Amino acid sequence: MPDDIESIKGALAGRYAIKRRLGSGGMATVYLARDLKHGRDVAVKVLRPELTAAVGSDRFLREIRITAQLNHPHILPLLDSGEADGFLYYVMPYVAGGSLRGHLSRGARVPFDVTLRIAQQVAAALEHAHRHGVIHRDIKPENILFSEGLAVVADFGIAKAVSAAGRESLTRTGVPLGTPGYMSPEQAAAIAEFDERTDVYGLACVVYEMLVGDTPGLWPTEEALRLGRFVDASPEHRECLDGLPGRLEQALVRALAVRPANRFATPVEFADVLAAAAEGSVKLSDGQVRRILERAAELEAEHPTEEGALSIGAVEQVAAEVGIAPERVREAARELARPRVSGAAWQAGAEPRSPGPSRDTLTIDRTVEGEIPESEYEALVAEIQAALGIVGHVSAVGGTLTWSPAAPRPEGRKVIVTVTRQAGQTRIHVEERLELTDWRQLACSAGGIGGAALGAALGLFFSADPGPLILIPIALGAFWGVFASRHTLTRGLREQREPQLERLVDRLAALAAEVPGAALERGAGRRRPALPEAGGSS
Ligand code: ADP
Ligand code: MG
Repeated sequence: MPDDIESIKGALAGRYAIKRRLGSGGMATVYLARDLKHGRDVAVKVLRPELTAAVGSDRFLREIRITAQLNHPHILPLLDSGEADGFLYYVMPYVAGGSLRGHLSRGARVPFDVTLRIAQQVAAALEHAHRHGVIHRDIKPENILFSEGLAVVADFGIAKAVSAAGRESLTRTGVPLGTPGYMSPEQAAAIAEFDERTDVYGLACVVYEMLVGDTPGLWPTEEALRLGRFVDASPEHRECLDGLPGRLEQALVRALAVRPANRFATPVEFADVLAAAAEGSVKLSDGQVRRILERAAELEAEHPTEEGALSIGAVEQVAAEVGIAPERVREAARELARPRVSGAAWQAGAEPRSPGPSRDTLTIDRTVEGEIPESEYEALVAEIQAALGIVGHVSAVGGTLTWSPAAPRPEGRKVIVTVTRQAGQTRIHVEERLELTDWRQLACSAGGIGGAALGAALGLFFSADPGPLILIPIALGAFWGVFASRHTLTRGLREQREPQLERLVDRLAALAAEVPGAALERGAGRRRPALPEAGGSS
């Protein structure tokens, strides 16, 4: 075999002592060697023999000479190049720190601050090369090496030097032009001319892989570009993308746009946007995001027309301050809007809040043997109204009695009682949303101010010159202050209301139990509704 290590040893004898093979890619094999003249370790890259024939040594060495002009701390320099016994080779420093590929074991993710630092260093290298008219064309984790903890980009200009041979002759040799997964659409489409934005694409693929643990796989659609969101992402990718600082996904979608015109003009521009996306982003858990938005949505709903109430736009602004993308605010708002019920949904006895049990909803459910007849509905309603001291609105549809306060006021109790008869049983369901009335809201604000002060103090403690960043702990502090006091007050409310509702359910259950089998017979022939059917609860 012509690329046998022994042949190469022989070819380079006297200058480089080949020690061992480091690895090989699509175009070449890399060896660790001793530079005998300078007494140092180097990496010698030897082009695949079939490629050597296709490219032609003159052309290859000419292109390599252009690369040799590059001089940048994040670019792996070219030390030497040449042809020996028909082998085309070039020599670079040996980098002991391994490549980014080595660090990205399958599925592993890199923390965002590390990702950003690597992206900035690679972008700086690319910018330097671009200024010298060199496009890398093969940015991928294998070509990002680590030396003394810094990223150094290898193989500048190699793809160009090789592709100078022309696509046809390369296709014959079976050498891939670029690497699948990192290849820009224009490269894949074999468009002859491309520019800096091809490297923007490659860098974005690497950044995506560092953060998500896998390459993007699909090119973003026009819709994705418009929304700033990978609409076709798999559930695993989506989970990672949702955990990223705000606006980051938008930047990635743009950097990976199919048409170069839609991408960032340069890798540095892309890296700057990544850095800006990270700035001021305090990571919140999903639960925290939900509670912030839930509270904001409640405020919005309770004071829809009042001045000073939070509009969704205002919520977006506050959310942006803590690194939540506006799309997520709108998404959460839509999600929260769905389970909010009034009118028909209450009448139909639908579950008022669909997504899981909420800490702020008090629910009591009891099933007793025996079907309570409709004739007893009046008694049930009287019992409910006496227990709660509220005049209610009643509907009796399909054997289900639903009671809710007749004139719901914003500060009034949000309680709903449903009695359902089915299969020889009566099910009593009482549900109350625990909402804070005015004075409690005020107390919450006081808690918020306290929390904000605490947040500000923490901010000052951690930063000598707080600047606008101080807003973040203040905003967070205010949120947590509100939540902490709100939670305490809601708990108080729960402790006060729960026994009352329990007593009510006891009474209703007793009523249902009082009229068992006999009640069934009594009710059998009489189909008159005991109470007027109501069309709506308000
Ligand atoms: P690829 O970059 O596609 O993996 P290469 O032929 O460029 O293919 O490199 C093969 C492997 O050799 C790389 O993955 C890397 O692990 C190793 N390598 C390349 N250059 C160096 C170097 N200068 N120092 C140390 N290892 C290197
Ligand atoms: Mg390489």
